[in-house]
Amino acid sequence: MIEKPREMSTFILRSGVLILSFGIASEIVYQIYKRVNTKNKGKRRKFPKTEVLFFPDETVACKSYFTDDYGCRNSNCRFTHEENSLSKLFTYLMSARTSIDICIFVITCSDLAELLIQSHKKGVVVRVVTDNEQVDVPGSQIWKLRKAGIPVRIDNSSFFMHHKFAIIDQEHLMNGSFNWTQKAITGNQENILITNNEDIVLPFISEFQKLWLKFDPNQN
Ligand SMILES: [Zn+2]
Repeated sequence: MIEKPREMSTFILRSGVLILSFGIASEIVYQIYKRVNTKNKGKRRKFPKTEVLFFPDETVACKSYFTDDYGCRNSNCRFTHEENSLSKLFTYLMSARTSIDICIFVITCSDLAELLIQSHKKGVVVRVVTDNEQVDVPGSQIWKLRKAGIPVRIDNSSFFMHHKFAIIDQEHLMNGSFNWTQKAITGNQENILITNNEDIVLPFISEFQKLWLKFDPNQN
């Protein structure tokens, strides 16, 4: 009879400790989530009205850090977590909600190809026009894009499809000298002009549509 109150108080004490531990654990998990979430939200840059990106970057931006929901988990990451031209290009491509239309002479950068595939998997309509002589160059990402289900059309002439532009959501244009290659990122002098000016964006939308139809394999 004397033992019962003691058992009861031990039970209450244990329950209290358990509830407190659970509360502390939940708070820790929530704080970590909030920190990671805020950090990544900060990286999601809004499209500027106009901006110019210049290359080469001194170091290659970490794709995971700038585009993955949980950032970079590699403690020995050899890529930069500092914002640069490539990191901005990553985030602008990732901001696409409905469509990405690209005319690109050559694409060998696997990070940029993977971003297109990620967008395609999220339901963004991705279309690519490229040059027939660049499809099979070493490192070409064209077959990887096609394998992922992204439609790619190639020019069928002896001349180059030499454009290097991307239209995001039919609203923003990124256009310049920049091919999507490693050499262009860290070696070449390159530029990308970004704008949402309709006077410039609309003719590029028409140009893409013209080439998309012109290089339709069913029409040739
Ligand atoms: Zn990293």
